[in-house]
Amino acid sequence: MHRERVSENVFWFQSDVYAQVTAGVVAGPQWAVVIDTLALPDETLGMREFIEHELGVSVRYVINTHYHADHSWGNCFFPGATIIAHSRCRELLIERGIPSLEEASKQNAALRQVKIVLPHMTFDHGEMTLRVGKKNLNIMPALGHSEDGISVLVEEDRILFAGDAFMPLPYIVDGNVDDIAASIKRIGRMGLENIVQGHGDVILRGEIEAAIKENLNYISAIKKAVRTAARRKAAMEYLEEISIEACGKSRVHLGGLAVSLHERNLRALLHQVQSGKDTGDDN
Ligand SMILES: [Zn+2]
Repeated sequence: MHRERVSENVFWFQSDVYAQVTAGVVAGPQWAVVIDTLALPDETLGMREFIEHELGVSVRYVINTHYHADHSWGNCFFPGATIIAHSRCRELLIERGIPSLEEASKQNAALRQVKIVLPHMTFDHGEMTLRVGKKNLNIMPALGHSEDGISVLVEEDRILFAGDAFMPLPYIVDGNVDDIAASIKRIGRMGLENIVQGHGDVILRGEIEAAIKENLNYISAIKKAVRTAARRKAAMEYLEEISIEACGKSRVHLGGLAVSLHERNLRALLHQVQSGKDTGDDN
């Protein structure tokens, strides 16, 4: 697990074992807030060890940016902490998280110590503010990667923990392409110092504009490809020819996962278009 300080009392962690998934901590004088847990128990426990022993505080709140396993299944390693999430996150952890953990534990012994802990405090629109030490955390919906996405802005530092609404390659299989475009645009208007993406590296101020553009271009490119495909008889065959590079992205992202995520994006979007969920506008 990789760890770095982003600003005073703000740290981020990145997994070495699963898709460069990230997590964060914002520490106050008495207690800390964790933003997302990592993919496997060992890494989440490593993060807790750092907070308790190096920073010398305990974790009072855990914010889940969404219900996916690699962001929320470590809740159980912060006993006594209050879990904060989107209200839909709580429902999705019940509907999908619990059965999928049961399945996954059969394959992976490390997951047998995991228990899904459901969010205690939820909201579904507007903003929630949590004060830790001298910093305000503004917690707000950021949909599109999933229907329960939230982001956390460290107001004083202009650091955004974006969750998976911002990734090196936007991933919309469990979400909605227009929602993610709206989230990315809103992030672009926030005047940020750093974006901590849900996966991949921290984006610095000077890189933000280009990263926003690249992600929006990618969204437009896959929408265009899928609309063309949908008009053809052999839609899937046409899509198989649309490479990740043709959509303006490199295949090296996310430790080699990028190509398969790209292919899944195209298939899911074709499905969304064919079932009429795509609004068809390009903005
Ligand atoms: Zn996710």
